[in-house]
Order: sequence, then C-alpha cells, then structure tokens
Amino acid sequence: MHELGICDALLKMVDKIAREEQLDGISRITVEVGTLSGVVPKYLEDCWTAVTDGTPYANSEFAIDVVEGTAKCFDCGQEFLAGINDRLVCPFCGGDKLVPVSGRDLTLKEILAE
Ligand SMILES: [Zn+2]
Repeated sequence: MHELGICDALLKMVDKIAREEQLDGISRITVEVGTLSGVVPKYLEDCWTAVTDGTPYANSEFAIDVVEGTAKCFDCGQEFLAGINDRLVCPFCGGDKLVPVSGRDLTLKEILAE
C-alpha cells in the first residue's frame, strides 16, 4: 500500500503552496487520479485523513477526480479507454500487447482557499 507515501508527499506539496501563496484556511483540495495509476481512491482518502490529523488541513475537503486511463494496442495501433478492472485486451483486434498512454498519474489539481 503506497497510498500513505503519496499522501505524505501531497501534504508537503499542499503545505508548500499554501505558504508560498499565503493561503489562509484551505477549504478544498482536489487531486486527479488516473484509473491506471494503481491508486485506490478509497485508500487515498483514508490515508489523507490519517496524515492530516492534527494539521491545519484536517478539516479541508478532500476531493478525488477519477480520470479514465487510455491504452494503445501494440498490434493495431488503436487507442481506447482502459479501466484498471477491465480485462486488458484490445477491443479492436483482441491483442494483449498494450501500452498505457494516460491515466497513470496522480496530480494535485486544485487548492481552494476560503
Ligand atoms: Zn488492437
């Protein structure tokens, strides 16, 4: 479970931005999670609650935007949406040599101050 490490890094990032931009009272933090990133949104939320306990961000809303990942078929070159739970074969030719194109990232999307 690497969600804890991710939340730790996120917290540091949020803290740095909040200081630099002198934001007072963060009301919402939004992160974007790709379906191919391997990050489970539910775990991420739990970890965020754990790492922000006792910090100024404990009461900030934590929003997760899930972004559909896309993969490209090595055999026919088509790109298609690929959820992590899907059986990963190409819907066009049935090939299983797939290359992830997007949706592998987790990014800090927005910090909203009161
Ligand atoms: Zn294909």
